[in-house]
Amino acid sequence: ALAVTMTACGSSQKTVDTEASASSGAGAAGALVGVTMPTKSSERWIHDGDNVKQQLEALGYQVDLQYAENDIPTQVNQIENQITKGAKLLIIASIDGTALTSQLQEAADNKIPVIAYDRLIRNSPNVDYYATFDNFKVGVQQATSLLKGLGVDGGKKGPFNVELFGGSPDDNNATFFWNGAMSVLQPKIDDGTLKVKSGQTDFKQAAILRWDPATAQKRMEDILTKTYTGDAKVDGVLSPYDGLSIGILSALKSSGYGTSGQPYPVVTGQDAELASVKSIIAGEQYSTIFKDTRKLAEQTVKMADAVLKGQKPEVNNTTDYNNGNKVVPSYLLDPVVVDKDNYKDVIVGSGYYTEDQLK
Ligand code: BGC
Repeated sequence: ALAVTMTACGSSQKTVDTEASASSGAGAAGALVGVTMPTKSSERWIHDGDNVKQQLEALGYQVDLQYAENDIPTQVNQIENQITKGAKLLIIASIDGTALTSQLQEAADNKIPVIAYDRLIRNSPNVDYYATFDNFKVGVQQATSLLKGLGVDGGKKGPFNVELFGGSPDDNNATFFWNGAMSVLQPKIDDGTLKVKSGQTDFKQAAILRWDPATAQKRMEDILTKTYTGDAKVDGVLSPYDGLSIGILSALKSSGYGTSGQPYPVVTGQDAELASVKSIIAGEQYSTIFKDTRKLAEQTVKMADAVLKGQKPEVNNTTDYNNGNKVVPSYLLDPVVVDKDNYKDVIVGSGYYTEDQLK
């Protein structure tokens, strides 16, 4: 009990130090902020990086923005460099949420606060805040949309053949998406409405390392060859990210889906990436989850600005995101399901893409 108490004291002391140094220290004006994003291979992170940089610069900060092409050692080096360059705060969208422990310790030793961006950084006491979307809700929305596409909420009984895909196991978000989705799908599997014909119902079997579209395509191809012999058809696929959905649709296409006689199954997604919104309009992918990166950037920049000025940033969740070491105070934004019915309102209406871009 004594050890626990002392640890608790130690960590709360650290928070106080950080805040004190930010308010009394060199001052916020013109400070350098280090921003690290996982990869440019997915559009959303390009939007995220651009938005965060622009908005920080508008407040007078200097920004070092780096992408690591999903390579962990590259990201580790980028963060180390930012510390060396004198960054006063770090905003990190991690590749592997557990791989940054010693860099974050270095940041803490230099009194540099850290904000986890979109993805929680795990197993470290040196994460001050977290800005993200409600990740469990994303999963619930994906599953609900899958059921809508299948017609289950309109009373159809099935049984429907579905296959399940998960995100990267080293991304903390992936299990939140999965658990959210399974909270909706498991009861439908249990009552026989849905059948996972491959039998692959564990997250471990469904997970796609680094969210790699080619790996998803290969897994879908393998499932089609092994499981969907004879007349059996896939009716729905839970896909947690648009990039994976593209790989999955392409495997399905090679196997004869996507014709008037054999339409595509209901395939979900996430991120409202341009190619996938077009695919939804074309009647291929069924839905995606829109997470407005402009808003996430805005919230994160507000947080960063407050921290740098020695103020307390606004958070709206202090319970759900335990990183294995502590609960990280978080700000959660609301994700929105997008399908053919509402893309005009939500995507075009909010100015995320213009009607022209979607042609
Ligand atoms: C993000 C998703 C994204 C995925 C792959 C997750 O951490 O929350 O929006 O689809 O990474 O990039």
